Amino acid sequence: MFCYQCEQTAGGTGCTKRGVCGKDEDIQSLQDTLTFGLKGIAAYAYHARELGQRDEHVDAFMHEALFATLTNVDFDLNRYLELVLKAGEMNLRVMEMLNNAHTSTFGNPTPATVPTGTKAGPGIVVTGHDLLDLRELLKQTEGKGINVYTHGEMLPAHGYPELRRFKHLVGNFGTAWQNQRKEFDEFTGPILVTTNCIMIPKDSYKDRIFTCGIAGCAGVTHIKGKEFSAVIEKALSSPPLPENPQGTLSTGFHYTAVLGLAGKIIEAVKAGKIRHFFFIGGCDGAKPGRNYFTEFAEKVPDDCVILTAACGKYRINARDYGDIDGIPRLIDTGQCNDCYSAVKIALALAEAFGCGVNDLPLSLIVSWYEQKAVAILLTLLHLGIRNIRLGPSLPAFLSPNVLNLLVEKFAIKPITTAEKDLEDILNSPAK
Ligand code: SF4
Repeated sequence: MFCYQCEQTAGGTGCTKRGVCGKDEDIQSLQDTLTFGLKGIAAYAYHARELGQRDEHVDAFMHEALFATLTNVDFDLNRYLELVLKAGEMNLRVMEMLNNAHTSTFGNPTPATVPTGTKAGPGIVVTGHDLLDLRELLKQTEGKGINVYTHGEMLPAHGYPELRRFKHLVGNFGTAWQNQRKEFDEFTGPILVTTNCIMIPKDSYKDRIFTCGIAGCAGVTHIKGKEFSAVIEKALSSPPLPENPQGTLSTGFHYTAVLGLAGKIIEAVKAGKIRHFFFIGGCDGAKPGRNYFTEFAEKVPDDCVILTAACGKYRINARDYGDIDGIPRLIDTGQCNDCYSAVKIALALAEAFGCGVNDLPLSLIVSWYEQKAVAILLTLLHLGIRNIRLGPSLPAFLSPNVLNLLVEKFAIKPITTAEKDLEDILNSPAK
């Protein structure tokens, strides 16, 4: 936390001007939280705008909130807290807008079983989050004998009718973003990166990775105007991919599809066949402690259902979880933005059971990494959701006082061990 006014670490031992410039580590902490949240909101608003949707309230909030992060503009901690929670509200609004933009453009997702691995022949793998770029590439590759694969956060594309109608969208290759350098090394065709999260490419595949839209990397060809002929040429001139099937993954559980099962779900809960719901997901990363999420999902008892979203799903989705009376035990609602679907499902269940979301047999085990995850966390706090378990560690930008405040107000908890957390959740009244 660097103060650009006194040019020292704000509030730290080197901050000789504290009291003069008024910098305070708690205000700095909330300003940082707000800034990270705004970056996440901006990402979703950007995608929605590309699809023709915008919201004047969100735009106005972005301006106000960024203005509020200026030096010496406000020394009232409570006002910053209000702004941080308002950012959560705005993120809910922007996730709804993006959800509507996606569904009105590509149709409502429905559950899909997606082959993994590769098929024999030329192929292109697409990663990032931009479904519009994927559709443009699918249009431009149609009839050219090129297979298109999703990677990372593109997996949910297979749920959308207007994307899966392209027969050459053949499957998913690889896992989450942090495994790119190994996985892209193995993929012999071109790679198209549409957004974050891109890793600096290895030399071994630098000549066949392309960026477009917001993504970029020095020394890598950047595609402008969604004109993908260079990617197509590279696919046709690269060594063909081998026939290498590796199984299947499921996705496409948009809230409209899950709410179609609402009657069955309520019946199963009332009959004691479903004991608890867990949301396990969020942004993934390379930190070793993230194995926690895999272990947690493995230990979830058979009479519980797991919801997931974002690239954290790859920590848990390789297993077959089966079903409970036809209700899948693993429900992948989609990309990180599709946490909106998870929120809609939770709110609908609360309404059906005549209780608040915090009274449902539902626990949230959230992995965070970058700014979109911060925006989503703020949305959950804005909705008053308590007892969120957050990992692999708590955000370093939270000062001790701000963290205490969040613990007191929302009972946010750091993850401990999968065994202990699961036991606490299933055995204690305060989940
Ligand atoms: S879910 Fe988060 S960490 Fe994962 S690819 Fe998307 S933005 Fe990156």
